[in-house]
Amino acid sequence: MTTPDYRAMLAVAVAEARQGLAEGGIPIGAALFARDGTLLGSGHNRRIQEGDPSVHGETDAFRKAGRQRSYRDTIMVTTLSPCWYCSGLVRQFGIGTVVMGESVNFHGGHDWLREHGVDVVDLADPECIAMLGNWIAAHPEVWHEDIGEDDDCGGH
Ligand SMILES: [Zn+2]
Repeated sequence: MTTPDYRAMLAVAVAEARQGLAEGGIPIGAALFARDGTLLGSGHNRRIQEGDPSVHGETDAFRKAGRQRSYRDTIMVTTLSPCWYCSGLVRQFGIGTVVMGESVNFHGGHDWLREHGVDVVDLADPECIAMLGNWIAAHPEVWHEDIGEDDDCGGH
């Protein structure tokens, strides 16, 4: 089996992140793909837009994809290392592969996923790093709220 085109898949997640940015939100996007490259669903973080802290890029993409018989052969592509909440979703449903745009601005649960047999790919994409890095620099308080850290925690 040939390796799917992860960069092309990431472009879908980046487009979602850009849309979130245009809406005044946190620029994190994600997309769920079938192994053959079929897009099942995509979405972006809407904490600010909807006042809903449970709408992360990954959960949004997951919900948009609707019911799938099996997740083993699906690929969750996200612009950022998945947080614990989204890493839990990956394990709960047995998603086989996680492709992340970067893990510089945030180091989530991807080591844990790898330890439990999930195929994790870090594309270290400069555009993803810059887009979210610039946003965090401008909105540090919202960022710490989003990742569940209060300001006293001193960041990550
Ligand atoms: Zn998350």
